[in-house]
Amino acid sequence: KSGFISIIGRPNVGKSTFMNKVIGQKIAIMSDKPQTTRNKIQGVLTEKDAQMVFIDTPGIHKPKHRLGDFMVKVAEDTLNEVDAILFMINAQEGYGRGDQYIIDRLQQVNRPVFLVINKIDLIHPDDLFAMIAEYKERYDFKEIIPISALEGNNVDRLLEVVKGYL
Ligand code: GDP
Ligand code: MG
Repeated sequence: KSGFISIIGRPNVGKSTFMNKVIGQKIAIMSDKPQTTRNKIQGVLTEKDAQMVFIDTPGIHKPKHRLGDFMVKVAEDTLNEVDAILFMINAQEGYGRGDQYIIDRLQQVNRPVFLVINKIDLIHPDDLFAMIAEYKERYDFKEIIPISALEGNNVDRLLEVVKGYL
C-alpha cells in the first residue's frame, strides 16, 4: 500500500510536530510515484506493508489578502491529487473562521478527509467530546481521530486508520 497524504490546517496546530513524531529517525525513502510541483514533500514513512508520503499543501489556509478564484481553484485541485487528507486542528481552540474557510474548500474535494484533533494532552475529555460533536455537524469526515503529536498518543492508530484507505 502506498499513497500521498496531505496535511492541512491553520498555523501552530502541530503539523510539523506530527511529522517529526511520525518520521522521527526512520530513514526516508523517496517514493517513485509522480508528484506535482504544487505539493511539497514533508516526509516519507516506509513500513513493511505501506509507504506514506506526507505533503504540505500550501494555499489552503485562509489568505491574508484576497487571492483570486484561480488560486483557490489551484489549492482545491491539489487536494484532489492526493490519496487522503488530514485536516489538523488544535483541541484547545474552538471552531473558528479559519476552519470554516478550509471546510468550504473541502466541500469540493472527493478524497477521504480525516479530522485530526491535536493537543489532546491539554484539554479535558468532556471538551473533546463537545468538539467532536461540533465538527461532525459541519463536515462528513471519514474518521475523527484525537491525538497528541507531542506525546505521541494515538499517532499509531491514526496511521493505521489512514492506511486502511490507501
Ligand atoms: P505547525 O505550525 O502546524 O507546524 O505547528 P508546530 O508543529 O510548529 O507546533 C506549534 C506548537 O504547538 C509548538 O510549540 C509545539 O510544541 C506545540 N504542539 C504541537 N503538538 C502538540 C501536542 O500534541 N501537545 C502540546 N501540548 N503541544 C503541541
Ligand atoms: Mg510547521
